[in-house]
Amino acid sequence: MADVNIIPKVRCDNCGHIEEKHKGQYDKAYSRPRTWGSCRMEGSRATDSYGSKSRLDFTDLCPKCAQAALDAAADVLNARRSEGETA
Ligand SMILES: [Zn+2]
Repeated sequence: MADVNIIPKVRCDNCGHIEEKHKGQYDKAYSRPRTWGSCRMEGSRATDSYGSKSRLDFTDLCPKCAQAALDAAADVLNARRSEGETA
């Protein structure tokens, strides 16, 4: 029987980019590359009659999407901060 070595892959929840997972140096478990990120945000606006809030929930984001999400959130939050409470 052939020794088939299947490397698990991780898929970006936003753009669909697929990359092979990395094997740990000490344990043998595969995990997603360190440069990958994730994004979980909960808004305040109710999106349905049950009161569920609008949210972003990306468990796996490739480096580009993770950085884009972080940069965008940081920019907007920074702008909000300078608007202050009176806005
Ligand atoms: Zn992506």
